[in-house]
Amino acid sequence: MPETYIEIPARQGRGVRLRAGELLDIIDTEGRQVADLVAFDAADPEEYLSTGHTVSCNARVTLGVGDKVFTNHRNPVFTILADDIGRHDIVVPCCDPERYSRDYGIAGHRSCLDNLHQARDLLGVDVVVRGENAWNVFMHNRVTADGRVVTDPALNPPGSTITLRAERDLVVLVSACPQDLTPCNDFNPTAMALRVRAGER
Ligand SMILES: [Zn+2]
Repeated sequence: MPETYIEIPARQGRGVRLRAGELLDIIDTEGRQVADLVAFDAADPEEYLSTGHTVSCNARVTLGVGDKVFTNHRNPVFTILADDIGRHDIVVPCCDPERYSRDYGIAGHRSCLDNLHQARDLLGVDVVVRGENAWNVFMHNRVTADGRVVTDPALNPPGSTITLRAERDLVVLVSACPQDLTPCNDFNPTAMALRVRAGER
C-alpha cells in the first residue's frame, strides 16, 4: 500500500481510517507538542478507545513499547511498536472549552475537543467524541507519590515519533493540542503529522 501522510496544522485536528495490521506514526514534527487521540471501532463506534479500561487492563497509568491500549469492551485498539519519548497521559481528559473558560476565564479558546470534532467532520464519520477518553500522546503528566497530577514540559525533539499497530479496523481522530497556558506544549502549540503505512508481514 502507498503511505498516507497527513499534516495536522497547529491548533487543529485531522482524522484517518486504519485497517487492522496497518501502522500509524504520530510525528511531533517541530517538537514539544502533545497529540490528543480518540479511536473508534470502524464497524461499531459504540466500541471505542477507553483510557479508564486501558488503565484497568494494564494495571498501570503509564504506557510503553509493547503495551496495548484497550476499548470499553477490553479489546485491543493499538499495540505500541516504537516510541521515541515514552511519556504519555491517560489520566486526564483532553482540553475542552470549559477548561479555558472555567480555569482561565477565556471564552472561545480553541480546544482539543473542538479539534476532534473538526477531525470527525473532515473525515465525514458519525461518532460521538468523548473527551474523557482521549489518550494524550506525549503529554508529560506525572502522578506523584501523594497523588497529585503534575504537568511537565513535553521537551520532545523535532521529529519525535510513536508507532502504533492497529489491532482492528479503526477510525482515529487526532488533535494538535492548542493549550498555550500550561507547559504541556511548552506554551507554543505547533503542527503534527500522521503517517499510515503497511504493517510488516
Ligand atoms: Zn488540548
